[in-house]
Amino acid sequence: MLTPAAPMPIPGHIDPVPVPRAPLPARPDGRVDLIGLTRDQLRDALADAGMEPRQAKLRGKQLWHWIYNRGATDFSVMTDIAKAQHPWLAQRFVIGRPEVVEAQASSDGTRKWLVRSVDGHDYECVFIPDADRGTLCVSSQVGCTLNCTFCHTGTMRLVRNLTAGEIVGQVMLARDALGEWPSQPDGRMLTNIVLMGMGEPLYNFDNVRDALALVMDGDGLALSKRRITLSTSGVVPMMARAGTEIGVNLAVSLHAVTKEVRDEIVPLNRKYGIEELLAACAAYPGASNARRITFEYVMLKDKNDSDADARELVRLLRHYDLPAKVNLIPFNPWPGAPYECSTPDRVRRFSQIVFEGGISAPVRTPRGRDIDAACGQLRTAAERRRRSQERRAELAPA
Ligand code: SF4
Repeated sequence: MLTPAAPMPIPGHIDPVPVPRAPLPARPDGRVDLIGLTRDQLRDALADAGMEPRQAKLRGKQLWHWIYNRGATDFSVMTDIAKAQHPWLAQRFVIGRPEVVEAQASSDGTRKWLVRSVDGHDYECVFIPDADRGTLCVSSQVGCTLNCTFCHTGTMRLVRNLTAGEIVGQVMLARDALGEWPSQPDGRMLTNIVLMGMGEPLYNFDNVRDALALVMDGDGLALSKRRITLSTSGVVPMMARAGTEIGVNLAVSLHAVTKEVRDEIVPLNRKYGIEELLAACAAYPGASNARRITFEYVMLKDKNDSDADARELVRLLRHYDLPAKVNLIPFNPWPGAPYECSTPDRVRRFSQIVFEGGISAPVRTPRGRDIDAACGQLRTAAERRRRSQERRAELAPA
């Protein structure tokens, strides 16, 4: 149970919703989960538990390698740590994984996990295999404050930020499921990560930065920053810091080219408008023609999909001289969604106009349509099932 705590300030000049920041409850068995600790925190955790400081430094290094390079979850396999020390470690620490509440696999190879935090909140991650890559879509928050009207997660209230351990835990879980330990430089299925799941990563900056540092560490999960993309709906004041302190690729949920429409479908636009957002993209550290910024554009019928919209998109991206590519995403409707997907002809025409404007604009193939693969859907489906089971239990004769 979370205890009430002072609201956490959200970066930016306007706080949309204060997020309660409370320490995670301790594990019932009192052990400390090592996942998510930085190298120094790992060493300190050992020293705090009573290990002599020089030994803590050495053991911390060894543990780091076993956890993030070898994927170990059991101290007894750690052959370079004295056997006699295994029970000492196991009594005090655990190398955890998120609890999987539900796992789905689509006929197209997409896999989705609904996982539960120790304080009982559910969030999702999705693995999407392609011919030349495999991308894991990771969540950064439980729910979201931003209420984008086309997004199912936006209909959920924000519960809390995920910790660095919970964010990196999604990657560890996927590596387990794909059998990708020890960490190999080549031949992996999980090659890319996108922070595009539940939540706005730049409203959980510190934890996202710390989690990605773990993911990029060469001795551990060793994913290159060029293979990681952080997707923001446009938290302008945090974008420069994301470029300098995290340094991964940037994707922006643009979705509209006029103030009127973007105000409606991405309400954050009322705080940070299109011009301000594109200027921040132009200044994004590290963006170049070799590392272009991705602009996500969901295709909504009769809302943002006209020829004029496509031409305005080209004009804006050129005006700000952006090294850009556009991802056109056919809308994946969920029950009660206020929009429909544009027709295939409309999507093709839109793409063609943007291409003719000199900007790459592929249409993303919808994946995992036979499972609840759109962001937020699995959690809602699981909640619906849980509620109807509870209702049935209430109605059942005693
Ligand atoms: S699109 Fe992203 S930022 Fe917008 S409501 Fe959904 S999860 Fe939040």
